[in-house]
Amino acid sequence: MDSNAVESAPPPESIDVALGARGYRVVVGAGLFGLPTPFGDIGLGRRAAIITDENIAPLYLATVEAALAAAGAETTSMILPPGEASKSFAGLERILGWLLDAGMERGDSVVALGGGVVGDVAGLAASLMKRGCRLIQIPTTLLAQVDSSVGGKTAIDMPQGKNLVGAFYQPGLVLADTAMLDSLPPREMRAGYAEVVKYGLIDKPEFFAWLEENGASLLAGNPQARRYAVSACVRAKAAIVAEDEREQGRRALLNLGHTFAHALEAAAGYGGELLHGEAVAIGMTLAFELSARLGRCPAADVARVRDHLRSAGLPVRPADSGISFKLDILLAHMQQDKKAKAGRLTFILAKGIGKSFISDDVDMDDVRMVLEAGLE
Ligand code: ADP
Ligand code: ZN
Repeated sequence: MDSNAVESAPPPESIDVALGARGYRVVVGAGLFGLPTPFGDIGLGRRAAIITDENIAPLYLATVEAALAAAGAETTSMILPPGEASKSFAGLERILGWLLDAGMERGDSVVALGGGVVGDVAGLAASLMKRGCRLIQIPTTLLAQVDSSVGGKTAIDMPQGKNLVGAFYQPGLVLADTAMLDSLPPREMRAGYAEVVKYGLIDKPEFFAWLEENGASLLAGNPQARRYAVSACVRAKAAIVAEDEREQGRRALLNLGHTFAHALEAAAGYGGELLHGEAVAIGMTLAFELSARLGRCPAADVARVRDHLRSAGLPVRPADSGISFKLDILLAHMQQDKKAKAGRLTFILAKGIGKSFISDDVDMDDVRMVLEAGLE
């Protein structure tokens, strides 16, 4: 393990997302809400409206309310049912109505306390509320801490597909309290871990090697390993977002495995049978297999990716999920992917671990072959 990571209870780390006037800090540490000023000097406004879900509220709502109150804000909270269904147009409307009824002003704060679902819908509500009020993200899942709470993507789902309506709206602060992961169900932890592995595969081979050594301990709840990995991922994400906020170039690398993953999720039907991170684990493996098939990636690297994800308890082939996918349905979903430009699919491929690149000239026949091999 890295020598920086073994000290007990190190002070929180503050990572800047360098976006000029829209820049903000991501604070990573264990027990952030036990600190005297977790919100620093951002200025919360008079009111703080917390949006959370039924699983998270009994665990962390009182702590966060108390910290906001200690910082001088009047708090009010809304508790959503857990799950993807809260990311709907109707759900968004309810949140906006509630914020208006609560008398929220533009200078006030919306606090998203939860996983990706809460962060996405509360973030979009904050972007719309009086044309944009302050947003504070308090991510409570591994996936949200390492990925969705940083970078300003917000969205709701539509009958036509997931995340199709949304905005880029950067938060004013992200507080990632790694101690909140103690209560996360193991399956959610593993799913978030797929996104952790993603950063190693994109451009951090040494981080991937660290995960090969320490991933099991991270998943078992080792606080130092967890904290080290969350910080490393946030630093990686912050750098990519600062370079390409609106995904016109390099930020697309964060979609490694996601073209496959979105098709698998759509075909599985978002009913909880296949979690996003599980789909990403399969998708990243397929992206490496596709890269090898195209002669771009050594087979040994594909095997390392597959072995590591599998050792983390993640599925690596569509068939591993126990769902029987139909090839044509998966291919049709891939063609509809919102990142498809003028009918061509953009894939993130890799020349090896930590050597990903964007490609927009992948032949659908190769995609078909790789998918087909994973279906039996
Ligand atoms: P994601 O961040 O993967 O998009 P969700 O927002 O759907 O995930 O959260 C996944 C599930 O985990 C939800 O049922 C949510 O209520 C629950 N959850 C989120 N954070 C925690 C936590 N820290 N402890 C326990 N359960 C949690
Ligand atoms: Zn993802």
